[in-house]
Amino acid sequence: KKTIGVLSLQGAFAEHIQMVQRLGAIGIEIRKKSDLPAHHLDGIILPGGESTVMGKLLHELDIFDDLQQLIKEGMPVMGTCAGMILLAKSINNDSKVHLGTMDIEVRRNAYGRQLGSFSIRGEFGDMKDVPMVFIRAPYIAQASKDVEVLAKVDNHIVAAKQGNMVVTSFHPELTSDTNVHSFFLDMVYRVK
Ligand code: GLN
Repeated sequence: KKTIGVLSLQGAFAEHIQMVQRLGAIGIEIRKKSDLPAHHLDGIILPGGESTVMGKLLHELDIFDDLQQLIKEGMPVMGTCAGMILLAKSINNDSKVHLGTMDIEVRRNAYGRQLGSFSIRGEFGDMKDVPMVFIRAPYIAQASKDVEVLAKVDNHIVAAKQGNMVVTSFHPELTSDTNVHSFFLDMVYRVK
């Protein structure tokens, strides 16, 4: 069985753990530095929540460097919403960069106040009709050519993959649809 560590400092981590367990993997919480060693993890999920808070906690708990290194070494990682912001190399309406491992520029809270939260169905890769829940979501304003676009809404990129990293603006863990997590677990299974 594969073990997926879900960053559990803040935000929607419990739902991600339930989702990976439903798909037959083991989901464990990452709350401190000693939860991170690579030998017991096959993949990592960075959940939604508040990227500024999570970024700060990563430093305060001294998890930041180890996490960044694991990702750079090729550990499969999925970032949803705030998790996507954590992975982005730049944020076009914020001077902060967090892990900065993925060649995307994101825009935080990109849908304005009145559209703060909404839910639609759309294509994700070659899957049709995937439910997408957006909550004060970012979108990808720019992506390098090494980044594969997986989903677009209103001409903005809302899901993408680059090597071992996959990100979504929306919250796949808040629906009962397992497609996005299956996509990520396929990436995990492909690593030997
Ligand atoms: N607005 C949040 C941020 O900027 C992300 C929202 C979410 O993860 N649902 O970090």
